Amino acid sequence: MSDIALLPQVEAFLARHHALFIDGRYVQSQGAQTLDVVNPATGQVISQVSEASPGDIDAAVESARRGFKQWSAAAPAVRGHVLLKLADLLERHREELAQIETCQSGKIIQISRAFEVDQAAHFLRYYAGWATKISGQTITPSLPSFAGERYTAFTLREPVGVVVGIVPWNFSTMIAIWKLASALVTGCSIIIKPSEFTPLTILRIAELAMDAGLPPGALNVLTGGGQVGKGLIEHPGTNKVSFTGSVPTGLAVGQSAMGAGLTRATLELGGKNAAGFLPDVAADVAVNGIIEAGFLHSGQICAAAERFFVHRSQLEPIMDKLAQRLSKLNIGSPLDEATEFGPVTNRQHQRKLGEFFAKARAQDNTIIHGGKLIDGPGCYVEPTIILANSRNDTLLHEETFGPIATFLPYDSEEELLELMNDTPFGLSASLWTNDLGKALRMVPAIEAGTVWVNMHTLLDPAVPFGGSKSSGMGREFGSAFIDDYTELKSVMIRY
Ligand code: NAD
Repeated sequence: MSDIALLPQVEAFLARHHALFIDGRYVQSQGAQTLDVVNPATGQVISQVSEASPGDIDAAVESARRGFKQWSAAAPAVRGHVLLKLADLLERHREELAQIETCQSGKIIQISRAFEVDQAAHFLRYYAGWATKISGQTITPSLPSFAGERYTAFTLREPVGVVVGIVPWNFSTMIAIWKLASALVTGCSIIIKPSEFTPLTILRIAELAMDAGLPPGALNVLTGGGQVGKGLIEHPGTNKVSFTGSVPTGLAVGQSAMGAGLTRATLELGGKNAAGFLPDVAADVAVNGIIEAGFLHSGQICAAAERFFVHRSQLEPIMDKLAQRLSKLNIGSPLDEATEFGPVTNRQHQRKLGEFFAKARAQDNTIIHGGKLIDGPGCYVEPTIILANSRNDTLLHEETFGPIATFLPYDSEEELLELMNDTPFGLSASLWTNDLGKALRMVPAIEAGTVWVNMHTLLDPAVPFGGSKSSGMGREFGSAFIDDYTELKSVMIRY
């Protein structure tokens, strides 16, 4: 097989020097700095974007404040309609967006099509449905009256204002859509700061959002590094940050937000997620589950499992079968439709994964399969199985965010739960068993924002998602996001 041909519009888009997207159009940066966008499959520079300057941050925030005034006054049905139209446009431009995404992130083209575009459109439509259903409550005040007067009260849900959406590189389109949909449907405006590694697709989506009827300033996109995100959060004109990224950056973001006068903050952070397999699960089923949980998009999924706990009696057959499956994976170009396993998204990340392999070897962990970077211009890493020596080993505690499954056997269910919870993080976990009664009894004891049973990684817009413990603050999806993007105003009346 060979690479698919890039569409002419994708070639033309990549060839542009990308300005910043402010007030419904491209605006040249006030600064002179630029950032190269590198295709991680080839190591080649494929495009350039601007690094926003402090003056650009001011301009984007002023525009977003004007956008907020206009957009928050729009009827809820109008807001929902614009999001539905944007979902249609994503689908109409499916191949174009998927190709841009694959070129900048190295995500295999089927994942770009199915998740970055198709799933993003589903999420947009889900959020659009909320536009006409967000409301306050009427309340009967509880205290007795003093002299026969009466009281009534109600609450209003008001948009929080200008939101800063800070996005990581692993799902640069879908995560940006979660943030812009939550903000826009509640009547907020939003400035998206994509990752410096993957800034391109959201610029194209911002153009489509204007075609969908979004007013200028309701969605701005500022490209650049972490300083741009920090500048936006600390700007007095922004009201909330919705951040998705690593735990250390999330802590810095939270500090910036609190220091900026209690700017509201939703933090969706990383984790060290566990998958626990009870002995009644057949080895083949377990292997399929491990591939789903740990190897999709080369493990670069925040909710992916990295710690695999298998009953001692099952450890060898499961690891043997998994090694056989991984050795047959078709590793190659992400633009080749036959490829099953592509590169990781950037050189820095590839090197970090190499350091994890070195740490595993230094701690005498057994590398059952893989364990090396793949030489060449692209950022490839072998899919890897590691057997840890003890529960204290580094590979069972630090997030690798890569295609590395680390195993440890357990002997009893009590020990399994203890191992699964032995982490400061709590984003997700999965339990695999045919005994659903047992699973339901174990679920409450698992410390994670999402617990899957006999599945892992699938996110649904109707089901709240977010981290417990050090994996974050706040929830996305379901109706839970409404609390984070609105202020609750109480109105009390005496009569
Ligand atoms: P990162 O934390 O390095 O960067 C995320 C974003 O923050 C980037 O846009 C970056 O430019 C920006 N940033 C950096 N410093 C900043 C600062 N001081 N102030 C404001 N913004 C700043 O994360 P990454 O490497 O891009 O992504 C991988 C991480 O994201 C992993 O830890 C993964 O688990 C996590 N993640 C979490 C979720 C979730 O929903 N919980 C989803 C995807 C990824």
